Amino acid sequence: LEKMDKGLEKTRKSFGQMMNELMANFRSVDEDFFEDLEETLITADVGFQTAMRITDELRQEVKLRNAKKPEEVQNAIVEKLVSIYEAEGAEEQNDVQLKENELTVILFVGVNGVGKTTSIGKLANQYREEGKKVLLAAADTFRAGAIDQLVVWGERAGVEVVRGKAGSDPASVVFDALERAKDEQADILLVDTAGRLQNKQHLMKELEKINRIIQREIPDGPHEVLLVVDATTGQNAMVQARQFKEATDVTGIVLTKLDGTAKGGMVLAIRNELNLPVKLVGLGEGIDDLQPFDPNEFIYGLFK
Ligand code: GDP
Repeated sequence: LEKMDKGLEKTRKSFGQMMNELMANFRSVDEDFFEDLEETLITADVGFQTAMRITDELRQEVKLRNAKKPEEVQNAIVEKLVSIYEAEGAEEQNDVQLKENELTVILFVGVNGVGKTTSIGKLANQYREEGKKVLLAAADTFRAGAIDQLVVWGERAGVEVVRGKAGSDPASVVFDALERAKDEQADILLVDTAGRLQNKQHLMKELEKINRIIQREIPDGPHEVLLVVDATTGQNAMVQARQFKEATDVTGIVLTKLDGTAKGGMVLAIRNELNLPVKLVGLGEGIDDLQPFDPNEFIYGLFK
């Protein structure tokens, strides 16, 4: 029972706290330590596969370096986490890529409730504050509520929303939004899409159609396809993410709700298992609670 209580308590703690606790209990580099490390990583939402990889590689690394002191072991862990994050395509940018002096089109995908609309609103506000002309497209025409919600965020962020009737063709809304963006010489068009995943075939078709419309108008678009993922849903979110990745060419992740009960280890699972960079993180419900994600800062900050 005591062990169960401890386990429950553990899940409430953040990744950093868990890693600090692991090092506080460090005695020596032995099999018990590596088992604790693996368990800690899994508890922190790093995911089974990634946790195993990290632990296996660290076993060798620690031996190679002949690391014995806690600070030596800790350094080896930090460097391993950084290398896991950076290994897969270090060349590619971790930031949202914007075109210069041209329209940038960013598509948002993800299931309902993950924080898609909220993230679009926050990002729209940031870009507007930077002096950019931003337009939103309400292409989630499936849920009437989704359109209204985006309109509310548009008002909050001080940007216009191009919308159709509920139930109308999402691709036609995107088409209208592109025409308007061109007419008004907008810098950025953020497109909200429907979050249905029950039927992957349907989702794929719908996203393909939206992509085709965009490419007809802007051959190198969409410039980013950001998959919004709820960090509090752990492994479930990983399953969803994999399905979206199969349905369309995702370019990066927006990881929301990292302020809540989330443990943060998911960024490593996303990088290692999906080979996608986390570009933005959601840290609350407010308009300013969206930030770029800096993997080095995050990983080096774990042991503070
Ligand atoms: P959508 O269905 O994917 O468009 O999701 P919404 O944008 O409507 O968000 C669903 C709920 O999650 C709302 O109550 C948001 O306020 C909340 N939410 C979104 N992002 C965050 C975040 O980063 N942190 C927290 N705590 N809540 C968030």
